Amino acid sequence: MQQQRVFVQGREGSPLMPCHPARARRLLRVGRAKVVRRVPFTVRLIDRDQKDSAVQPVSLRLDPGARTTGVALVAEGGRGARAVWAAELTHRSQSIRSRLTDRRMYRRGRRSRKTRHRPPRLQNRARPKGWLPPSLQSRVDNTRTWAERLACRAPVSTVVVETTRFDVHALSAGKPLAGVEYQQGTLQGWELREYLLHRHGHTCAYCQGESRDPVLEVEHVHPRSRGGSNRVANLVIACQTCNTAKGNRTPGEWAVALGRTKFDQARAKTAPAIEAGKPSSLRDAAAMNASRYAVGRAVKTLGLPVTFTSGGRTKANRSSQGYRKAHWIDAACVGPAGDSVHLDPNAPVLSITATGRGQRRVTKPDRYGFPRGAAGRVKRVQGLQTGDRVRAVVPTGKYRGSHVGRVAGVRADGRMDVATTRQKFTTTAARLARLQAADGYHYEGAGL
Ligand SMILES: [Zn+2]
Repeated sequence: MQQQRVFVQGREGSPLMPCHPARARRLLRVGRAKVVRRVPFTVRLIDRDQKDSAVQPVSLRLDPGARTTGVALVAEGGRGARAVWAAELTHRSQSIRSRLTDRRMYRRGRRSRKTRHRPPRLQNRARPKGWLPPSLQSRVDNTRTWAERLACRAPVSTVVVETTRFDVHALSAGKPLAGVEYQQGTLQGWELREYLLHRHGHTCAYCQGESRDPVLEVEHVHPRSRGGSNRVANLVIACQTCNTAKGNRTPGEWAVALGRTKFDQARAKTAPAIEAGKPSSLRDAAAMNASRYAVGRAVKTLGLPVTFTSGGRTKANRSSQGYRKAHWIDAACVGPAGDSVHLDPNAPVLSITATGRGQRRVTKPDRYGFPRGAAGRVKRVQGLQTGDRVRAVVPTGKYRGSHVGRVAGVRADGRMDVATTRQKFTTTAARLARLQAADGYHYEGAGL
Protein backbone atom coordinates (compact mmCIF):
# COMPACT_ATOMS: atom_id res chain seq x y z
CA MET A 1 0.00 0.00 0.00
CA GLN A 2 1.33 3.39 -0.94
CA GLN A 3 0.54 5.50 2.04
CA GLN A 4 2.43 8.74 1.66
CA ARG A 5 0.24 10.90 -0.58
CA VAL A 6 1.26 13.96 -2.54
CA PHE A 7 -0.22 17.29 -1.48
CA VAL A 8 -2.34 19.00 -4.11
CA GLN A 9 -3.32 22.63 -4.28
CA GLY A 10 -5.94 24.22 -6.49
CA ARG A 11 -5.16 26.92 -9.03
CA GLU A 12 -5.40 29.62 -6.38
CA GLY A 13 -3.43 27.69 -3.78
CA SER A 14 -6.32 26.29 -1.75
CA PRO A 15 -5.70 22.75 -0.46
CA LEU A 16 -7.34 19.79 -2.25
CA MET A 17 -7.34 16.11 -1.31
CA PRO A 18 -3.81 14.64 -1.30
CA CYS A 19 -3.40 12.24 -4.23
CA HIS A 20 -1.48 9.09 -5.05
CA PRO A 21 2.08 9.76 -6.29
CA ALA A 22 1.29 7.98 -9.58
CA ARG A 23 -1.57 10.39 -10.22
CA ALA A 24 0.67 13.35 -9.40
CA ARG A 25 3.27 12.07 -11.87
CA ARG A 26 0.58 11.78 -14.56
CA LEU A 27 -0.68 15.31 -13.87
CA LEU A 28 2.85 16.67 -14.09
CA ARG A 29 3.58 14.75 -17.29
CA VAL A 30 0.56 16.07 -19.15
CA GLY A 31 1.22 19.59 -17.87
CA ARG A 32 -1.91 19.89 -15.73
CA ALA A 33 0.12 20.57 -12.58
CA LYS A 34 3.40 22.06 -11.48
CA VAL A 35 5.64 21.40 -8.50
CA VAL A 36 5.40 24.07 -5.81
CA ARG A 37 7.42 22.41 -3.08
CA ARG A 38 9.78 19.44 -2.88
CA VAL A 39 9.43 18.55 0.80
CA PRO A 40 6.70 17.75 1.61
CA PHE A 41 6.02 17.14 -2.07
CA THR A 42 3.26 19.48 -3.22
CA VAL A 43 1.86 20.11 -6.69
CA ARG A 44 -0.49 22.83 -7.85
CA LEU A 45 -3.18 22.18 -10.43
CA ILE A 46 -3.27 24.63 -13.31
CA ASP A 47 -6.86 24.12 -14.40
CA ARG A 48 -8.89 23.43 -11.25
CA ASP A 49 -9.72 24.99 -7.92
CA GLN A 50 -11.33 23.87 -4.67
CA LYS A 51 -14.86 24.63 -5.90
CA ASP A 52 -14.44 22.14 -8.78
CA SER A 53 -13.22 19.32 -6.52
CA ALA A 54 -14.60 16.92 -3.94
CA VAL A 55 -12.90 17.47 -0.60
CA GLN A 56 -13.29 15.02 2.28
CA PRO A 57 -12.67 16.01 5.88
CA VAL A 58 -9.08 15.42 6.97
CA SER A 59 -8.01 15.40 10.59
CA LEU A 60 -4.53 16.36 11.68
CA ARG A 61 -3.44 14.21 14.62
CA LEU A 62 -0.49 15.01 16.83
CA ASP A 63 1.26 12.97 19.48
CA PRO A 64 3.75 15.37 21.10
CA GLY A 65 6.79 13.72 22.63
CA ALA A 66 9.90 14.85 24.44
CA ARG A 67 12.22 13.95 21.59
CA THR A 68 9.93 13.10 18.71
CA THR A 69 6.44 14.22 17.83
CA GLY A 70 4.26 11.96 15.71
CA VAL A 71 2.25 13.68 12.97
CA ALA A 72 -0.48 12.04 10.89
CA LEU A 73 -3.14 13.21 8.46
CA VAL A 74 -6.18 10.95 8.45
CA ALA A 75 -8.86 11.26 5.76
CA GLU A 76 -12.47 10.25 6.39
CA GLY A 77 -13.44 8.49 3.19
CA GLY A 78 -16.29 6.25 2.08
CA ARG A 79 -14.32 3.17 3.13
CA GLY A 80 -13.48 4.52 6.58
CA ALA A 81 -10.64 6.54 8.02
CA ARG A 82 -7.28 6.18 6.28
CA ALA A 83 -3.86 7.65 7.04
CA VAL A 84 -2.81 9.65 3.98
CA TRP A 85 0.40 11.25 5.19
CA ALA A 86 2.60 10.85 8.24
CA ALA A 87 5.85 12.18 9.60
CA GLU A 88 8.03 12.01 12.67
CA LEU A 89 9.27 15.37 13.86
CA THR A 90 12.48 15.24 15.92
CA HIS A 91 13.13 18.21 18.18
CA ARG A 92 16.44 19.81 19.04
CA SER A 93 16.00 20.21 22.80
CA GLN A 94 19.48 19.10 23.85
CA SER A 95 21.35 21.24 21.34
CA ILE A 96 19.48 24.35 22.45
CA ARG A 97 20.38 23.64 26.03
CA SER A 98 24.05 23.16 25.26
CA ARG A 99 24.20 26.30 23.12
CA LEU A 100 22.66 28.39 25.86
CA THR A 101 25.15 26.91 28.29
CA ASP A 102 27.94 27.86 25.87
CA ARG A 103 26.62 31.39 25.57
CA ARG A 104 26.47 31.75 29.34
CA MET A 105 30.06 30.55 29.55
CA TYR A 106 31.31 33.04 26.93
CA ARG A 107 29.51 35.92 28.60
CA ARG A 108 30.90 34.98 31.97
CA GLY A 109 34.35 34.77 30.40
CA ARG A 110 34.00 38.21 28.84
CA ARG A 111 32.83 39.78 32.07
CA SER A 112 35.96 38.78 33.90
CA ARG A 113 38.45 39.05 31.06
CA LYS A 114 37.99 42.10 28.90
CA THR A 115 37.74 45.15 31.10
CA ARG A 116 37.03 46.14 34.66
CA HIS A 117 35.12 43.67 36.75
CA ARG A 118 31.41 43.71 36.00
CA PRO A 119 29.32 41.68 38.37
CA PRO A 120 26.40 39.72 36.96
CA ARG A 121 23.22 41.73 36.80
CA LEU A 122 20.48 41.34 39.35
CA GLN A 123 17.99 38.60 38.67
CA ASN A 124 15.28 41.20 38.27
CA ARG A 125 13.68 40.00 35.08
CA ALA A 126 10.16 38.66 35.37
CA ARG A 127 9.23 35.71 33.23
CA PRO A 128 6.05 36.18 31.24
CA LYS A 129 3.06 33.99 31.97
CA GLY A 130 3.28 30.67 30.18
CA TRP A 131 7.07 30.90 29.91
CA LEU A 132 8.78 27.63 29.05
CA PRO A 133 12.49 26.83 28.99
CA PRO A 134 13.81 27.53 25.46
CA SER A 135 14.36 23.83 24.77
CA LEU A 136 10.71 23.07 25.54
CA GLN A 137 9.49 26.19 23.75
CA SER A 138 11.22 25.00 20.59
CA ARG A 139 9.23 21.73 20.71
CA VAL A 140 6.04 23.73 20.94
CA ASP A 141 7.11 26.03 18.10
CA ASN A 142 8.21 23.14 15.84
CA THR A 143 4.88 21.42 16.33
CA ARG A 144 2.86 24.55 15.66
CA THR A 145 4.92 25.32 12.55
CA TRP A 146 4.16 21.91 11.09
CA ALA A 147 0.51 22.01 12.06
CA GLU A 148 0.27 25.34 10.26
CA ARG A 149 2.14 24.10 7.17
CA LEU A 150 -0.02 21.01 6.89
CA ALA A 151 -3.21 23.00 7.40
CA CYS A 152 -2.50 24.90 4.20
CA ARG A 153 -1.40 21.83 2.22
CA ALA A 154 -4.33 19.53 3.01
CA PRO A 155 -8.01 20.33 3.68
CA VAL A 156 -7.62 19.93 7.45
CA SER A 157 -10.96 20.32 9.20
CA THR A 158 -10.06 19.23 12.74
CA VAL A 159 -6.94 18.86 14.86
CA VAL A 160 -6.60 16.20 17.57
CA VAL A 161 -3.75 16.58 20.07
CA GLU A 162 -2.70 14.16 22.77
CA THR A 163 -2.15 16.50 25.70
CA THR A 164 -2.06 14.13 28.65
CA ARG A 165 -0.60 10.72 29.32
CA PHE A 166 -3.76 9.60 31.08
CA ASP A 167 -7.17 11.05 31.68
CA VAL A 168 -7.91 11.12 35.40
CA HIS A 169 -11.45 12.30 34.82
CA ALA A 170 -12.27 9.46 32.42
CA LEU A 171 -10.71 7.11 34.96
CA SER A 172 -12.68 8.14 37.97
CA ALA A 173 -15.66 10.03 36.47
CA GLY A 174 -15.36 12.64 39.20
CA LYS A 175 -15.19 10.14 42.07
CA PRO A 176 -12.07 9.89 44.26
CA LEU A 177 -9.31 8.16 42.32
CA ALA A 178 -8.56 5.77 45.21
CA GLY A 179 -11.81 3.90 44.57
CA VAL A 180 -11.10 3.21 40.90
CA GLU A 181 -10.66 -0.44 40.00
CA TYR A 182 -8.22 -1.96 37.55
CA GLN A 183 -9.78 -3.81 34.63
CA GLN A 184 -7.35 -5.39 32.26
CA GLY A 185 -7.70 -4.29 28.65
CA THR A 186 -10.57 -1.80 28.89
CA LEU A 187 -10.03 1.85 28.08
CA GLN A 188 -10.18 2.58 31.78
CA GLY A 189 -7.54 -0.08 32.38
CA TRP A 190 -5.24 1.58 29.85
CA GLU A 191 -5.70 4.98 31.44
CA LEU A 192 -5.05 3.50 34.86
CA ARG A 193 -1.90 1.73 33.72
CA GLU A 194 -0.61 5.01 32.27
CA TYR A 195 -1.49 6.74 35.53
CA LEU A 196 0.40 4.14 37.57
CA LEU A 197 3.40 4.34 35.23
CA HIS A 198 3.46 8.10 35.68
CA ARG A 199 3.02 7.82 39.44
CA HIS A 200 6.04 5.54 39.70
CA GLY A 201 8.12 7.44 37.16
CA HIS A 202 8.21 4.41 34.81
CA THR A 203 10.31 2.42 37.26
CA CYS A 204 9.70 -0.60 39.44
CA ALA A 205 8.39 0.37 42.90
CA TYR A 206 10.39 -2.41 44.57
CA CYS A 207 13.86 -2.34 43.01
CA GLN A 208 13.66 1.23 41.61
CA GLY A 209 14.92 -0.04 38.28
CA GLU A 210 17.94 -1.91 39.74
CA SER A 211 16.92 -5.12 37.97
CA ARG A 212 17.32 -3.42 34.54
CA ASP A 213 14.20 -5.35 33.52
CA PRO A 214 12.38 -3.26 30.88
CA VAL A 215 9.07 -5.13 31.30
CA LEU A 216 6.84 -3.22 33.71
CA GLU A 217 3.62 -4.70 35.05
CA VAL A 218 0.72 -3.64 37.22
CA GLU A 219 1.28 -5.41 40.53
CA HIS A 220 -1.15 -6.12 43.37
CA VAL A 221 0.49 -5.18 46.68
CA HIS A 222 -1.80 -7.47 48.66
CA PRO A 223 -2.02 -10.48 46.30
CA ARG A 224 -5.15 -10.87 44.23
CA SER A 225 -5.20 -14.62 44.93
CA ARG A 226 -5.47 -13.90 48.63
CA GLY A 227 -8.29 -11.40 48.41
CA GLY A 228 -6.33 -8.27 47.50
CA SER A 229 -8.52 -5.73 45.75
CA ASN A 230 -8.23 -4.28 42.26
CA ARG A 231 -8.36 -0.75 43.62
CA VAL A 232 -5.73 1.87 42.84
CA ALA A 233 -4.63 1.89 46.48
CA ASN A 234 -3.59 -1.76 46.14
CA LEU A 235 -1.69 -1.33 42.86
CA VAL A 236 1.90 -0.40 42.06
CA ILE A 237 4.18 -0.73 39.04
CA ALA A 238 6.71 -3.56 39.32
CA CYS A 239 9.21 -4.98 36.88
CA GLN A 240 8.57 -8.53 35.77
CA THR A 241 11.59 -9.76 37.73
CA CYS A 242 10.28 -8.39 41.03
CA ASN A 243 6.66 -9.25 40.27
CA THR A 244 7.55 -12.89 39.59
CA ALA A 245 9.91 -13.11 42.57
CA LYS A 246 7.30 -11.72 44.93
CA GLY A 247 4.66 -14.16 43.71
CA ASN A 248 1.61 -14.38 45.94
CA ARG A 249 3.28 -12.99 49.05
CA THR A 250 2.70 -9.63 50.68
CA PRO A 251 5.65 -7.22 50.48
CA GLY A 252 6.34 -7.87 54.18
CA GLU A 253 6.50 -11.66 53.77
CA TRP A 254 8.66 -11.26 50.68
CA ALA A 255 11.10 -8.85 52.39
CA VAL A 256 11.79 -11.39 55.15
CA ALA A 257 12.55 -14.10 52.60
CA LEU A 258 14.89 -11.94 50.50
CA GLY A 259 18.62 -12.69 50.45
CA ARG A 260 21.63 -10.67 51.56
CA THR A 261 22.79 -9.37 48.17
CA LYS A 262 22.81 -5.61 47.64
CA PHE A 263 19.99 -5.97 45.10
CA ASP A 264 17.80 -7.99 47.49
CA GLN A 265 18.51 -5.64 50.38
CA ALA A 266 17.42 -2.65 48.28
CA ARG A 267 14.14 -4.40 47.53
CA ALA A 268 13.62 -5.43 51.15
CA LYS A 269 14.05 -1.78 52.12
CA THR A 270 11.26 -0.45 49.88
CA ALA A 271 8.81 -3.26 50.63
CA PRO A 272 7.47 -2.08 54.05
CA ALA A 273 6.60 1.38 52.71
CA ILE A 274 4.76 -0.18 49.78
CA GLU A 275 2.86 -2.50 52.11
CA ALA A 276 1.86 0.53 54.18
CA GLY A 277 0.54 2.15 51.00
CA LYS A 278 3.32 4.73 50.72
CA PRO A 279 5.47 3.89 47.70
CA SER A 280 8.52 6.16 47.50
CA SER A 281 7.85 7.74 44.11
CA LEU A 282 4.37 9.18 44.28
CA ARG A 283 3.83 11.90 41.73
CA ASP A 284 0.90 14.21 41.66
CA ALA A 285 -1.52 13.37 38.88
CA ALA A 286 -2.14 17.07 38.34
CA ALA A 287 1.53 17.95 37.84
CA MET A 288 1.54 17.02 34.20
CA ASN A 289 3.82 17.76 31.35
CA ALA A 290 3.65 21.53 30.85
CA SER A 291 4.93 21.48 27.29
CA ARG A 292 2.19 19.12 26.10
CA TYR A 293 -0.45 21.58 27.24
CA ALA A 294 1.53 24.37 25.62
CA VAL A 295 1.43 22.43 22.33
CA GLY A 296 -2.34 22.23 22.68
CA ARG A 297 -2.61 25.97 23.30
CA ALA A 298 -0.29 26.80 20.41
CA VAL A 299 -2.23 24.64 17.96
CA LYS A 300 -5.47 26.30 19.07
CA THR A 301 -4.19 29.62 17.73
CA LEU A 302 -4.45 28.22 14.18
CA GLY A 303 -8.19 28.76 14.38
CA LEU A 304 -9.20 25.16 13.63
CA PRO A 305 -11.40 23.09 15.95
CA VAL A 306 -9.01 21.29 18.32
CA THR A 307 -9.77 18.21 20.44
CA PHE A 308 -7.56 17.19 23.35
CA THR A 309 -7.17 13.54 24.23
CA SER A 310 -5.11 11.24 26.43
CA GLY A 311 -2.28 8.78 25.94
CA GLY A 312 -4.20 5.97 27.61
CA ARG A 313 -6.76 6.14 24.82
CA THR A 314 -4.05 6.25 22.15
CA LYS A 315 -2.43 3.09 23.50
CA ALA A 316 -5.78 1.32 23.76
CA ASN A 317 -6.63 2.31 20.16
CA ARG A 318 -3.27 1.19 18.82
CA SER A 319 -3.30 -2.13 20.69
CA SER A 320 -6.86 -2.98 19.68
CA GLN A 321 -5.82 -2.66 16.02
CA GLY A 322 -2.60 -4.60 16.54
CA TYR A 323 -0.29 -1.87 15.24
CA ARG A 324 3.35 -1.70 16.31
CA LYS A 325 4.69 1.20 18.37
CA ALA A 326 5.90 4.16 16.34
CA HIS A 327 5.43 7.86 16.91
CA TRP A 328 3.49 8.39 13.69
CA ILE A 329 1.26 5.35 14.30
CA ASP A 330 0.48 6.65 17.78
CA ALA A 331 -0.41 9.97 16.18
CA ALA A 332 -2.80 8.28 13.74
CA CYS A 333 -4.48 6.46 16.65
CA VAL A 334 -4.92 9.59 18.78
CA GLY A 335 -8.43 10.55 19.84
CA PRO A 336 -11.90 8.99 20.01
CA ALA A 337 -11.89 8.19 16.25
CA GLY A 338 -8.42 6.63 16.46
CA ASP A 339 -9.78 3.12 17.04
CA SER A 340 -10.39 2.40 13.36
CA VAL A 341 -7.72 3.84 11.07
CA HIS A 342 -6.40 2.03 8.02
CA LEU A 343 -2.66 2.35 7.74
CA ASP A 344 0.33 0.34 6.63
CA PRO A 345 2.54 0.07 9.71
CA ASN A 346 5.58 -0.71 7.56
CA ALA A 347 5.16 2.16 5.12
CA PRO A 348 8.07 4.60 5.17
CA VAL A 349 7.22 8.07 6.46
CA LEU A 350 8.95 11.42 6.27
CA SER A 351 11.47 12.05 9.01
CA ILE A 352 11.82 15.74 9.88
CA THR A 353 14.62 16.89 12.17
CA ALA A 354 14.72 20.41 13.54
CA THR A 355 18.22 21.76 13.00
CA GLY A 356 17.93 25.47 13.65
CA ARG A 357 19.32 28.06 11.27
CA GLY A 358 22.97 28.24 12.18
CA GLN A 359 24.69 30.05 14.98
CA ARG A 360 25.69 33.59 15.85
CA ARG A 361 29.14 32.71 17.09
CA VAL A 362 31.76 34.99 15.49
CA THR A 363 34.91 33.26 16.73
CA LYS A 364 36.08 29.70 16.83
CA PRO A 365 37.01 28.77 20.37
CA ASP A 366 39.77 26.28 21.11
CA ARG A 367 39.04 23.40 23.40
CA TYR A 368 39.53 25.59 26.48
CA GLY A 369 36.95 28.10 25.27
CA PHE A 370 39.43 30.83 24.25
CA PRO A 371 38.66 32.61 20.98
CA ARG A 372 41.09 31.51 18.27
CA GLY A 373 40.44 32.68 14.74
CA ALA A 374 37.27 33.84 13.06
CA ALA A 375 34.37 31.58 12.26
CA GLY A 376 32.95 31.73 8.75
CA ARG A 377 31.58 35.25 8.36
CA VAL A 378 29.37 34.59 5.37
CA LYS A 379 26.22 32.57 5.62
CA ARG A 380 25.33 32.64 1.96
CA VAL A 381 27.73 32.07 -0.92
CA GLN A 382 26.50 32.64 -4.49
CA GLY A 383 22.93 32.47 -3.27
CA LEU A 384 23.34 29.15 -1.45
CA GLN A 385 23.48 28.33 2.24
CA THR A 386 23.74 25.26 4.42
CA GLY A 387 20.48 23.31 4.40
CA ASP A 388 19.30 24.28 0.90
CA ARG A 389 17.94 21.40 -1.18
CA VAL A 390 19.81 21.31 -4.47
CA ARG A 391 20.25 19.36 -7.66
CA ALA A 392 23.92 18.84 -8.46
CA VAL A 393 25.01 18.00 -11.99
CA VAL A 394 28.59 16.75 -11.87
CA PRO A 395 30.06 16.33 -15.39
CA THR A 396 33.17 14.29 -14.60
CA GLY A 397 34.97 12.31 -11.92
CA LYS A 398 33.95 9.85 -9.28
CA TYR A 399 30.62 11.57 -8.59
CA ARG A 400 29.58 12.29 -12.18
CA GLY A 401 25.86 12.34 -12.73
CA SER A 402 22.83 14.14 -11.37
CA HIS A 403 22.17 14.11 -7.63
CA VAL A 404 19.52 15.58 -5.35
CA GLY A 405 20.63 16.40 -1.84
CA ARG A 406 21.20 19.17 0.63
CA VAL A 407 24.00 21.66 0.99
CA ALA A 408 26.00 20.43 3.97
CA GLY A 409 28.48 23.29 4.02
CA VAL A 410 29.36 26.43 2.08
CA ARG A 411 32.82 27.92 1.67
CA ALA A 412 33.66 31.49 0.74
CA ASP A 413 35.56 30.37 -2.39
CA GLY A 414 32.40 28.87 -3.88
CA ARG A 415 33.06 25.21 -3.14
CA MET A 416 30.03 23.43 -1.71
CA ASP A 417 29.65 20.24 0.28
CA VAL A 418 26.60 18.31 -0.87
CA ALA A 419 25.08 15.42 1.09
CA THR A 420 22.67 13.01 -0.56
CA THR A 421 21.08 10.05 1.19
CA ARG A 422 23.95 7.84 0.04
CA GLN A 423 27.07 9.98 -0.27
CA LYS A 424 28.76 13.27 0.46
CA PHE A 425 30.97 15.16 -1.99
CA THR A 426 32.33 18.61 -2.73
CA THR A 427 31.54 20.52 -5.90
CA THR A 428 31.21 24.13 -6.98
CA ALA A 429 28.23 26.44 -6.70
CA ALA A 430 28.03 26.70 -10.50
CA ARG A 431 26.97 23.05 -10.69
CA LEU A 432 24.13 23.40 -8.20
CA ALA A 433 20.54 24.44 -8.79
CA ARG A 434 18.49 25.26 -5.72
CA LEU A 435 15.24 23.30 -5.43
CA GLN A 436 14.11 24.50 -2.02
CA ALA A 437 15.53 27.02 0.43
CA ALA A 438 16.77 25.96 3.85
CA ASP A 439 13.98 26.21 6.41
CA GLY A 440 15.58 25.03 9.65
CA TYR A 441 14.62 21.37 9.16
CA HIS A 442 16.48 18.38 7.81
CA TYR A 443 14.50 15.80 5.86
CA GLU A 444 14.99 12.09 5.39
CA GLY A 445 12.91 9.07 4.51
CA ALA A 446 9.85 8.73 2.32
CA GLY A 447 8.94 11.29 -0.29
CA LEU A 448 12.37 12.70 -1.06
ZN1 LIG B 1 11.95 -4.50 40.13
